[in-house]
Amino acid sequence: MATFQNSLPDLTRRAPAAGPAVYIETYGCQMNTYDSQAIGGLLEGAGFRLVDTELAADAVLLNTCSVREHAEHKVISRVGELRMRRRQAELGPVVIGICGCMAERLGDDLRKGPKAVDLVVGVDNYDALPGLLKDLTAPADGSGGAGATRTGHRLDAHYVAPPELYPVNNSHLVTIHKGCDYKCTYCIVPMTRGPQSEKAPAVILDEIAGIVARGGREVTLLGQNVTAYRWQDSLDFAGLLEQVAAIDGLERIRFLTGHPRDMHPHLMDTIGRLDKVCPWLHVPAQSGSDAVLRRMKRLYTAAEYLAMVDHARRAIAGVTFSSDFIVGFPGETDADFRATLDLVRRVEYDQIFSFKYSERPGVPAARLADDVPVEAKKERLAELMDVQQGIWAKVAQAQVGQVVQAVGEGPARRPAGAWRVRTANNRKVVVLGAEIAAGDAVTVRLTGWDATTFFGDRLDA
Ligand code: SAM
Ligand code: SF4
Repeated sequence: MATFQNSLPDLTRRAPAAGPAVYIETYGCQMNTYDSQAIGGLLEGAGFRLVDTELAADAVLLNTCSVREHAEHKVISRVGELRMRRRQAELGPVVIGICGCMAERLGDDLRKGPKAVDLVVGVDNYDALPGLLKDLTAPADGSGGAGATRTGHRLDAHYVAPPELYPVNNSHLVTIHKGCDYKCTYCIVPMTRGPQSEKAPAVILDEIAGIVARGGREVTLLGQNVTAYRWQDSLDFAGLLEQVAAIDGLERIRFLTGHPRDMHPHLMDTIGRLDKVCPWLHVPAQSGSDAVLRRMKRLYTAAEYLAMVDHARRAIAGVTFSSDFIVGFPGETDADFRATLDLVRRVEYDQIFSFKYSERPGVPAARLADDVPVEAKKERLAELMDVQQGIWAKVAQAQVGQVVQAVGEGPARRPAGAWRVRTANNRKVVVLGAEIAAGDAVTVRLTGWDATTFFGDRLDA
């Protein structure tokens, strides 16, 4: 079994090779974005070319998500659409591979039936991709391969992705561990991603030093529960943050996702003390009802969650919060849902991501009746989003007139001639005027806001 912990790949992207062309499409969370970069690095290292469109590709890899049923349906219909687009463009068939969580969950079933794909490669088997794709795109005997399925968890398979040249939000993604040992009853991740397994601190620090050496100034440490990071009982997440913050030239550290249960006072105090760690916590609450939290097996009560928020506000100057919520979990009553609205009002999040409960096969909650009617789920989702919009209006309006420090990210989508900048606490601001290049530090006065974004004037131009 290969180990990647001790063999840090060359982080420099190689010049495009002349080999078969691969198009990678990513669904789901940022860990999948990172995995796609790792797959790209492995393939380029083996002589493949990465291309930007499926029409230029010899092979298409869909890196997938299984968290909700809808996410899986999107991928299956995309397989049909890919084939249709090739036919319409009068191109020959393309090799199609499904990677990631769906590969792990559905395995060989994805290679059967009308939407059958050629390759199915799970989250711990990406090192097999170059060989498998070579067989399919340029077989030595000219026959065309038969396809393959590679799934199953390997605790030691940690990938190191080459740093992206121009990452979203200036932030280079760095996965610090994989899998999850929590057993939230609604969640498919422990099945698709396997048990939690840590990337060695030395590998993480080398990876980040490599990013900084190539001009990167910000990293986002990634994991299903980064706050549960623990290396051989000698280093926890707070300790890892200290070591990352000591890297010369690195300016900002973000992290995703924090589990409320692991947000110990010591960790919050460390975050507050380390200037490089951004004061923004994405700490999914999921529900504000203790009865629902218990059935979800989230391992905290609403009161404990609120106490964590209070401590963070005291320990971390200017901290802001975001969260995920599930509405319509089995047995959720109207009173349970009101408790969620109450929690949302009390925390005053900058942003929430809310989802209708989606039953996943094989998870513990699948044994409970999915008894909240679809209409009620829709109404609760709409009401939750409405309440959050009102909270944001209040939070955002209170900021108008404030002067903030931010970092440039590039051109804004609209209006023309505007630039995107982001504050350390993850607030997006659109600024009109002379160019603000990605990475430029700017001082901005906030002048207004809309659904999720502030507007501002640059003061230091
Ligand atoms: N590890 C993170 C945590 O514990 O908060 C979350 C990871 S999960 C991939 C992202 C979000 O998807 C969750 O926070 C939850 O809100 C949502 N989610 C997970 N399973 C779901 C399900 N069965 N139905 C609806 N939403 C779900
Ligand atoms: Fe899923 Fe819970 Fe693990 Fe998050 S902590 S990935 S919600 S099982």
